[in-house]
Amino acid sequence: MRPVAVLGRRFGHPVAVANDADMGARGEHAFGAARSLDDFLYIKASHGIGAGMVLAGRTYPGSTGISGEIGHTRLQDSTSLCRCGNRGCLETVVSITEVRRQLAHVLTVSGTATDPDTLPPLDELAAARVITDAGRTIGLVLADLVNCLNPAAIVLGGELSAAGDPLATGVREFIDRYAQLASAHAVTVMAGKLQQRAELLGAVATVMRQSTTAG
Ligand SMILES: [Zn+2]
Repeated sequence: MRPVAVLGRRFGHPVAVANDADMGARGEHAFGAARSLDDFLYIKASHGIGAGMVLAGRTYPGSTGISGEIGHTRLQDSTSLCRCGNRGCLETVVSITEVRRQLAHVLTVSGTATDPDTLPPLDELAAARVITDAGRTIGLVLADLVNCLNPAAIVLGGELSAAGDPLATGVREFIDRYAQLASAHAVTVMAGKLQQRAELLGAVATVMRQSTTAG
């Protein structure tokens, strides 16, 4: 069953299917943090980890529309089984599901402290460590992409990006550590502006562009 055909029949209108990270990149490009940029990577960090690539001003979908599957990049020191059937994929370590599990663990452990005056800072510190670690792991994988593509920016999106500064700090740290110096200097790491609406607004931008072209 092809979703495009089924949805097209139900709605009575033309339907297209696109990659969610690509749509996030288009959303941030058209309306958000990357409006002035022609070369950037949009990272959708959610239940999976995907990269939408805008290169020379255009979204790069790959030959069959599935480029940017960085969530299945293998990490050397991980053996966790991934939904793709391989072991050690990036998203087995830093998906929103896994990070929530890690946060629940450290907050439960720190919650056993008896001093009420020190508990909130301890909680915040423990949570920031988990999020920063997740950012570092993503940054490790992104360092290779930064070397290959020399982007001007990495825009962090998806549910995990709501974690804010600790995530961007971790990404920045490991890009600086592992990417080539000139490429690392050229790239800005920033949070997206559209949060959970990036993909939807990217779809809107796509339809608007197609309408303009058709008209
Ligand atoms: Zn995988």
